[in-house]
Amino acid sequence: MTGKTAGSAFVDHDHDHNACRGQALVRAQAICTERGVRLTEIRRQVLEHVWRGHKPLGAYEILDMLRDNRQKTAPPTVYRALEFLLQHGLIHRIESLNAFVGCTDPETPHRAQFLICNQCGVTAELNDPRIDAAIGEQAAAAGFTVNRRTIEVEGTCPHCALTAR
Ligand SMILES: [Zn+2]
Ligand SMILES: [Zn+2]
Ligand SMILES: [Zn+2]
Repeated sequence: MTGKTAGSAFVDHDHDHNACRGQALVRAQAICTERGVRLTEIRRQVLEHVWRGHKPLGAYEILDMLRDNRQKTAPPTVYRALEFLLQHGLIHRIESLNAFVGCTDPETPHRAQFLICNQCGVTAELNDPRIDAAIGEQAAAAGFTVNRRTIEVEGTCPHCALTAR
Protein backbone atom coordinates (compact mmCIF):
# COMPACT_ATOMS: atom_id res chain seq x y z
CA MET A 1 0.00 0.00 0.00
CA THR A 2 1.07 3.56 -0.57
CA GLY A 3 1.07 6.46 1.85
CA LYS A 4 2.28 4.62 4.93
CA THR A 5 4.54 6.21 7.45
CA ALA A 6 7.89 4.45 7.39
CA GLY A 7 7.79 1.57 9.84
CA SER A 8 4.10 2.01 10.58
CA ALA A 9 1.19 -0.14 9.52
CA PHE A 10 -0.96 3.00 9.66
CA VAL A 11 -1.50 5.17 6.61
CA ASP A 12 -0.76 8.88 6.87
CA HIS A 13 -3.88 10.92 7.49
CA ASP A 14 -3.18 12.99 4.38
CA HIS A 15 -2.48 10.06 2.06
CA ASP A 16 -4.24 9.85 -1.30
CA HIS A 17 -7.14 7.66 -0.27
CA ASN A 18 -8.83 7.80 -3.68
CA ALA A 19 -5.79 6.02 -5.06
CA CYS A 20 -5.98 3.56 -2.16
CA ARG A 21 -9.61 2.74 -2.82
CA GLY A 22 -9.15 2.68 -6.59
CA GLN A 23 -6.32 0.20 -6.22
CA ALA A 24 -8.39 -2.00 -3.88
CA LEU A 25 -11.19 -2.17 -6.46
CA VAL A 26 -8.79 -3.01 -9.30
CA ARG A 27 -7.19 -5.77 -7.20
CA ALA A 28 -10.61 -7.14 -6.22
CA GLN A 29 -11.66 -7.28 -9.87
CA ALA A 30 -8.45 -9.10 -10.80
CA ILE A 31 -8.93 -11.63 -7.99
CA CYS A 32 -12.54 -12.31 -8.99
CA THR A 33 -11.59 -12.72 -12.67
CA GLU A 34 -8.80 -15.12 -11.74
CA ARG A 35 -11.16 -17.19 -9.58
CA GLY A 36 -13.96 -17.13 -12.13
CA VAL A 37 -16.41 -15.41 -9.79
CA ARG A 38 -18.32 -12.24 -10.51
CA LEU A 39 -17.77 -8.96 -8.79
CA THR A 40 -21.37 -7.91 -9.40
CA GLU A 41 -22.43 -4.29 -9.21
CA ILE A 42 -23.75 -4.64 -5.64
CA ARG A 43 -20.62 -6.49 -4.47
CA ARG A 44 -18.43 -3.80 -6.05
CA GLN A 45 -20.48 -1.02 -4.46
CA VAL A 46 -20.37 -2.62 -1.01
CA LEU A 47 -16.60 -3.06 -1.35
CA GLU A 48 -16.25 0.56 -2.41
CA HIS A 49 -18.19 1.68 0.68
CA VAL A 50 -16.14 -0.53 3.00
CA TRP A 51 -13.11 1.21 1.48
CA ARG A 52 -14.52 4.66 2.19
CA GLY A 53 -11.68 4.98 4.67
CA HIS A 54 -9.57 2.88 6.99
CA LYS A 55 -12.22 2.76 9.69
CA PRO A 56 -14.28 -0.41 9.97
CA LEU A 57 -17.92 0.13 8.95
CA GLY A 58 -20.99 -1.66 10.21
CA ALA A 59 -23.44 -3.33 7.83
CA TYR A 60 -26.09 -0.72 8.58
CA GLU A 61 -23.75 2.16 7.81
CA ILE A 62 -23.06 0.51 4.46
CA LEU A 63 -26.76 0.00 3.90
CA ASP A 64 -27.40 3.69 4.60
CA MET A 65 -24.75 4.73 2.10
CA LEU A 66 -26.23 2.44 -0.54
CA ARG A 67 -29.68 3.86 0.07
CA ASP A 68 -28.38 7.31 -0.73
CA ASN A 69 -27.70 6.15 -4.29
CA ARG A 70 -30.17 3.33 -4.83
CA GLN A 71 -33.85 3.26 -4.13
CA LYS A 72 -34.21 -0.18 -2.64
CA THR A 73 -31.44 -2.20 -1.10
CA ALA A 74 -32.66 -4.85 1.30
CA PRO A 75 -30.40 -5.79 4.25
CA PRO A 76 -30.04 -9.43 3.04
CA THR A 77 -28.59 -8.13 -0.24
CA VAL A 78 -25.90 -6.27 1.68
CA TYR A 79 -25.23 -9.23 3.97
CA ARG A 80 -24.85 -11.54 0.99
CA ALA A 81 -22.44 -9.13 -0.66
CA LEU A 82 -20.44 -8.84 2.59
CA GLU A 83 -20.40 -12.63 2.90
CA PHE A 84 -19.00 -12.92 -0.63
CA LEU A 85 -16.32 -10.31 0.04
CA LEU A 86 -15.35 -12.05 3.31
CA GLN A 87 -15.21 -15.44 1.62
CA HIS A 88 -12.81 -14.12 -1.00
CA GLY A 89 -10.65 -12.34 1.56
CA LEU A 90 -11.39 -8.90 0.12
CA ILE A 91 -12.59 -7.62 3.50
CA HIS A 92 -12.24 -8.67 7.14
CA ARG A 93 -14.76 -8.65 9.94
CA ILE A 94 -13.70 -6.85 13.11
CA GLU A 95 -15.62 -8.80 15.73
CA SER A 96 -15.17 -6.34 18.60
CA LEU A 97 -16.81 -3.60 16.53
CA ASN A 98 -19.14 -5.81 14.51
CA ALA A 99 -17.82 -4.01 11.46
CA PHE A 100 -15.92 -4.59 8.24
CA VAL A 101 -12.68 -3.25 6.85
CA GLY A 102 -10.98 -3.70 3.47
CA CYS A 103 -8.10 -6.17 3.32
CA THR A 104 -4.77 -4.62 2.38
CA ASP A 105 -3.32 -7.88 1.06
CA PRO A 106 -6.19 -9.77 -0.57
CA GLU A 107 -4.06 -11.86 -2.96
CA THR A 108 -2.41 -13.79 -0.12
CA PRO A 109 -4.49 -15.99 2.18
CA HIS A 110 -3.70 -14.96 5.75
CA ARG A 111 -4.97 -14.63 9.27
CA ALA A 112 -4.78 -11.02 10.13
CA GLN A 113 -4.06 -9.10 13.27
CA PHE A 114 -5.53 -5.64 13.71
CA LEU A 115 -4.45 -2.51 15.52
CA ILE A 116 -7.58 -0.47 16.19
CA CYS A 117 -7.44 3.19 17.25
CA ASN A 118 -9.98 4.00 19.96
CA GLN A 119 -9.80 7.72 19.16
CA CYS A 120 -10.36 7.93 15.39
CA GLY A 121 -11.39 4.36 14.60
CA VAL A 122 -8.67 3.88 12.00
CA THR A 123 -7.53 0.28 11.83
CA ALA A 124 -4.26 -1.12 10.54
CA GLU A 125 -3.85 -4.70 9.41
CA LEU A 126 -0.78 -6.71 10.32
CA ASN A 127 -0.09 -9.99 8.64
CA ASP A 128 2.65 -11.32 10.82
CA PRO A 129 3.05 -15.08 10.43
CA ARG A 130 5.15 -15.16 13.63
CA ILE A 131 2.16 -14.08 15.72
CA ASP A 132 -0.03 -16.63 14.04
CA ALA A 133 2.54 -19.39 14.49
CA ALA A 134 3.01 -18.53 18.18
CA ILE A 135 -0.73 -18.80 18.79
CA GLY A 136 -0.89 -22.07 16.89
CA GLU A 137 1.96 -23.55 18.93
CA GLN A 138 0.63 -22.38 22.28
CA ALA A 139 -2.88 -23.53 21.51
CA ALA A 140 -1.62 -26.95 20.41
CA ALA A 141 0.50 -27.23 23.57
CA ALA A 142 -2.60 -26.45 25.63
CA GLY A 143 -4.63 -29.04 23.73
CA PHE A 144 -6.85 -26.21 22.57
CA THR A 145 -8.70 -26.25 19.24
CA VAL A 146 -8.80 -22.81 17.67
CA ASN A 147 -11.90 -21.78 15.75
CA ARG A 148 -11.23 -18.14 15.12
CA ARG A 149 -7.88 -16.49 15.42
CA THR A 150 -8.29 -12.90 14.39
CA ILE A 151 -6.47 -10.70 16.86
CA GLU A 152 -7.84 -7.27 17.62
CA VAL A 153 -5.64 -4.90 19.58
CA GLU A 154 -7.02 -1.55 20.73
CA GLY A 155 -5.05 1.60 21.39
CA THR A 156 -4.02 4.96 19.97
CA CYS A 157 -2.74 5.39 16.40
CA PRO A 158 0.39 7.48 15.66
CA HIS A 159 -1.72 10.34 14.31
CA CYS A 160 -3.93 10.58 17.43
CA ALA A 161 -0.89 10.17 19.68
CA LEU A 162 0.67 13.22 17.98
CA THR A 163 -2.44 15.42 18.17
CA ALA A 164 -2.95 14.54 21.84
CA ARG A 165 0.44 16.00 22.71
ZN1 LIG B 1 -6.35 4.91 2.15
ZN1 LIG C 1 -6.18 -9.03 5.14
ZN1 LIG D 1 -6.34 7.43 15.68
